[in-house]
Amino acid sequence: VESLNAADVANWIRRAAELVAADTERLTRLDAAIGDGDHGHNLDRGFRAAVAALPDDAPPGRTLIAAGRAVVSKTGGASGPLYGTALRRAGKALGDAADVDAAAFGTALRAALEGVQDLGKAVEGDKTMVDALAPAAAAYEAALGDGADLAGCARAAADAAARGAEATIPMQARKGRASYLGPRSVGHMDPGACSTGLVLRALAEIVGG
Ligand code: ADP
Ligand code: MG
Ligand code: MG
Repeated sequence: VESLNAADVANWIRRAAELVAADTERLTRLDAAIGDGDHGHNLDRGFRAAVAALPDDAPPGRTLIAAGRAVVSKTGGASGPLYGTALRRAGKALGDAADVDAAAFGTALRAALEGVQDLGKAVEGDKTMVDALAPAAAAYEAALGDGADLAGCARAAADAAARGAEATIPMQARKGRASYLGPRSVGHMDPGACSTGLVLRALAEIVGG
């Protein structure tokens, strides 16, 4: 795929919802270790709502904004506003273009990260979803700079997000509920970083990466 149209973006949200549904118990177990054990169910509910809210005939940007709005309204916890903001900011960055090429999607991914950081104030190393999303955006941009196509960029982002999630295991949480545990948050993967890896894996899958 050279670019994403509205149907591709809708398929991305559907695939993300499937991967979240399949890993709901795992995400909830991760959150039980360092939080309150609801991340899987929060996100499963949110992405189901996003799928239900996908517009029939809207450009990619508006499709993401609709998905983000549904996620905010239906996802409990800290992750709802954070994921919702990420999707809405990405959608806004795409504007009303009918097709999104690799460069435009990179801009949207960067905007999503900035939205999460504006809202949650987390930086890399705080053991949050930022530890998956920030390296994903950087890897996407690096791949783009190396001349990779959309699939190559998406694969680089998904791989970096997965590595970023793994890298949260030895971190001590400094943001969100897990930070209340202090040093006891060490030794567990951050659930939001894990789910961010799933959402980017879904992207790589639908563009053929
Ligand atoms: P809650 O903690 O309210 O129960 P969830 O369990 O759904 O919400 O989501 C927890 C995840 O949210 C964490 O694993 C982390 O990745 C993310 N998170 C929490 N606070 C922040 C923040 N300030 N910035 C970025 N991500 C955060
Ligand atoms: Mg939780
Ligand atoms: Mg909660």
